[in-house]
Amino acid sequence: MTRYWAEHAWIGSDRAESGVLIEVRGDRIAAVARDVAPPARDGAIELRGLVLPGLANAHSHAFHRVLRGRTHRGGGTFWTWREDMYALAERLDPDAYRALARAVFGEMALAGITCVGEFHYLHHGAARYDDPNAMGHALIAAAAEAGIRITLLDTCYLASGFGDPPEGVQRRFSDGDAAAWAGRASALRDAPHARIGAAIHSVRAVPADQLSTVADWARERGAPLHAHLSEQRAENEACLAATGRTPAELLDEHGALGAHCCMVHATHLTHDDIERLGGTTVCMCATTERDLADGIGPARALASPLCLGSDSHAVIDMFEEARAVELDERLRTERRGHFSAAELLRAATNHAAIGWPEAGAIEPGAPADLVTVSLDSVRLAGAGPDTLLESAVFAAGAGDVSEVIAGGRRIVHEGRHETLDVAAELRAVLA
Ligand SMILES: [Zn+2]
Repeated sequence: MTRYWAEHAWIGSDRAESGVLIEVRGDRIAAVARDVAPPARDGAIELRGLVLPGLANAHSHAFHRVLRGRTHRGGGTFWTWREDMYALAERLDPDAYRALARAVFGEMALAGITCVGEFHYLHHGAARYDDPNAMGHALIAAAAEAGIRITLLDTCYLASGFGDPPEGVQRRFSDGDAAAWAGRASALRDAPHARIGAAIHSVRAVPADQLSTVADWARERGAPLHAHLSEQRAENEACLAATGRTPAELLDEHGALGAHCCMVHATHLTHDDIERLGGTTVCMCATTERDLADGIGPARALASPLCLGSDSHAVIDMFEEARAVELDERLRTERRGHFSAAELLRAATNHAAIGWPEAGAIEPGAPADLVTVSLDSVRLAGAGPDTLLESAVFAAGAGDVSEVIAGGRRIVHEGRHETLDVAAELRAVLA
């Protein structure tokens, strides 16, 4: 049994509590007590600052981290950025990807992320690997090395557009058809730190007659099913032209919406799409959406639970993702106050969307994932105890995370990863 005493902690209400004692047995929280005076030599480890549950990064493509800065000179569009991303995908093999992903997941750990939903479609080499899941296994191993949990959202990707076969590096993403995708994905196994989910890359990349194979695979296993949805207007227009339906209609028709499903972006939706998505989780990736000039999704209009993802990793900072959901609404509506800080933190800690419904809260039975936000930096110094959640959501940055405990194990101490020199690893792999 390990006991932690948090100076302040968010245990689910609209404000932080002071003096919270958290007892951890193995990898789980055993007990939580509030209004506990500072411990005097009774063995509790002090966590100074604001303690949050582990943050969930529900949408990641680890290899996109390479493009940070390198695609930010000049202009272009989502589609020109995608060409750079494809050129990179061509160069990765399982060993290179494991090293890259370990560094990226290490950066996530430093940012307080204790679980990642890795939307994984980089399946094959120029020739098939001996282990057809070599790339997925590399990602699962990388997460373990970084000390975080992972949901490998194994992604079906079969086409370059409506009626068009995959071309160029997209051939490395494709299993041929959804049945072959399902056969390969079925060979993946859960591990203590890893669960397997499914993804439909998009309605562009999975032909309509293949969608229900992926949807059924996920439903039969009780696994999460993710899909990119309506990130770009061009996708909507092509989908309407090819099928007479919006992407949300098409996915709904093939069983790919519902409580176990998560639609990523959901930027350009009709009123009917918004109603159709009620009950389906939506993953907002605000820093990527603004980086790629996608547009602003209708976060407040959705009746969906929200989760958050750093997606292309233009930055990895869940505080920035959280506040951007509110701040984007402000820019659009010229009004403040659409989401409370607690609502935004619930989105930032939504593990159910990636298949860990027991995680994301500081309560008995939950995995012992504790993230301490230091109040010592110039950004948060002087924060008021009654408005700590607002200070954290609207002013904290990933660099303010000082301590991270994931599954009962300390992985970050005083702002440094316990086992990895993350910056050195990033420098080495990016070189
Ligand atoms: Zn994505």
